[in-house]
Amino acid sequence: MTNNMTIQARKTEAIAQGVGMMTQVYAERAENAEIWDIEGNRYIDFAAGIAVVNTGHRHPKVIEAVKSQLDHFTHTCHQVVPYENYVYLAERLNKLVPGEFDKKTVFVTTGAEAVENAIKIARAATGRTAVVSFSGGFHGRTFMGMALTGKVFPYKVGFGAMPSDIYHVPFPIKLHGVTVEQSLGALETLFKADVDPSRVAAIILEPVQGEGGFYEVPGGFLRSLRELCDKHGILLIADEIQTGFARTGKLFAMEHYGVAADLTTMAKGLAGGFPLAAVTGKADIMDAANPGGLGGTYGGNPIGIAAAHAVLDVIEEEDLCDRAMILGNLLKQRLQGIREDVPEIADVRGPGFMNAVEFNDAKTGNPSPEFTNAVKTKALERGLILLTCGVYSNVIRFLSPITIQDPVFQEALDILETSIRDVHSDVNSKT
Ligand code: PMP
Repeated sequence: MTNNMTIQARKTEAIAQGVGMMTQVYAERAENAEIWDIEGNRYIDFAAGIAVVNTGHRHPKVIEAVKSQLDHFTHTCHQVVPYENYVYLAERLNKLVPGEFDKKTVFVTTGAEAVENAIKIARAATGRTAVVSFSGGFHGRTFMGMALTGKVFPYKVGFGAMPSDIYHVPFPIKLHGVTVEQSLGALETLFKADVDPSRVAAIILEPVQGEGGFYEVPGGFLRSLRELCDKHGILLIADEIQTGFARTGKLFAMEHYGVAADLTTMAKGLAGGFPLAAVTGKADIMDAANPGGLGGTYGGNPIGIAAAHAVLDVIEEEDLCDRAMILGNLLKQRLQGIREDVPEIADVRGPGFMNAVEFNDAKTGNPSPEFTNAVKTKALERGLILLTCGVYSNVIRFLSPITIQDPVFQEALDILETSIRDVHSDVNSKT
């Protein structure tokens, strides 16, 4: 009989182990915030394909747009035979991405590819090569994405020399003892010790670090970075691949800080489950690359473009930015409410519905990946899919579809609370 276990055994034989797996639940169908596996088990999905289906699995409007596109054409390659919807989506993003200046857009297929292209564009526009990124940041698994990523294991181990002229400075995380002043000081030291700022093409950062642990950039730090960039002619790149499309309670997280990046990368939530990514930025900067220097066979595939138009409509029609704020507050309240009983909870945080809980060992105060993993496992047994993250793997991040129905959301909160309380009891009954 085919079940999760038999397919998992086949997977082990057939798929390279480098593709990590967070569950062994093989999907059969999905609807909004729920997934059913091939054994008929039902799960509430607090991962959303890693922040992709912000508008829910199979949102009727997204499905309708995709079906209609399927009936017209599925692929022509925009560079060969173009289509209006590609141009129209660029026009929409040029208006929506933060920044009071003329913008242009290029479409690609994955987040890592968007990052690659942002760096290519920044280098072409400035004639400089150096790029600064942050420890704990994540920017993808291609060579440039990997080089920019500020975490060695598992992303860089064994993959040899990274592209040169990439520098990391500590991301300011108060909880971990890194202040804004220290991060700015590290940048100053970098400019003195390693690289002249006049050689730096770009500084890239996530407004809220995703894989790194859901740490929000302090507004003051972002404003200082903007000033520093302006002073030295460096471009600021906002990687909004995980933060974008209503997740933080705004269409783009940068809107929270009143700071505009020169270039913005997006992917994931942009097309509600179809592979589409983009770079949007200042028009003159975007035009720095020669014709033919950007693009790709599948970049801006018509199915993804059609889906993205529907996603943007749904976010507006269903007020998903407001809904993200409401859901995020409820989630954070629930977690804050159990902190007194569960001293392992070190922090509850995150703007809008980009929330996380961080667990430490209650006795030592050290990060506790064991506690975190146990909560994830218990929740999965009860039918709630959770994702962990963080440099110390001691953070659970919540990425439910923003369209989740109220009763399903309440059910998920109950499972979450019970799972955390259970793990706390288990840990304390052993000691
Ligand atoms: N940047 C950020 C901030 C991300 O979260 C991710 C994916 N987790 C990427 C880049 C890479 O995107 P992709 O996996 O689509 O290549």
